[in-house]
Amino acid sequence: MSVKPILQLGNPLLWEKSSPVADPGSADTRSLVRDLSDTLAAFRRERGFGRGIAAPQIGVLRRAIFIRMPDGFCGPLINPEIIGASDRQIELWDDCFSFPDLMVRVRRAEQIRVHYHDEDGAEHELESAGGLSELLQHEIDHLDGILATDRAIHPRAFATRAEWERSLRSRAGL
Ligand SMILES: [Zn+2]
Repeated sequence: MSVKPILQLGNPLLWEKSSPVADPGSADTRSLVRDLSDTLAAFRRERGFGRGIAAPQIGVLRRAIFIRMPDGFCGPLINPEIIGASDRQIELWDDCFSFPDLMVRVRRAEQIRVHYHDEDGAEHELESAGGLSELLQHEIDHLDGILATDRAIHPRAFATRAEWERSLRSRAGL
């Protein structure tokens, strides 16, 4: 196990742009992928939510993310790039490991297509919609130093998690 501390909102590294992973199939990349996977699993065990993590959140400014959908895609995406997005958008309450008690209302493309490498260096394309699509957009934003707070659709598009669970969750149909 190698669980890493997760950088929290206010840490300037979270607003830095990450560099491409030079060799997606290398031992260093595998080690980074394991750190992301272990840190995501530990957070989920502790807090009961969490589906994705990006390398800059553990202080590594490299373009790698790890996704674990409850009943779907699971694995790393190295150098992920959005190569297509639907005009149709969805609005949702977003959250983040880097501010786990804050909810932010954001707008995302309903569907996207992503090109990426796996940890063996093989290339893939992934078509996604709904929950996976908005999660991928959130995590890929991290690689460009963009946080959900930067994408708030309104100055008042924020809620604490407790208030969201108390009063907004049912209205949002979540
Ligand atoms: Zn995040």
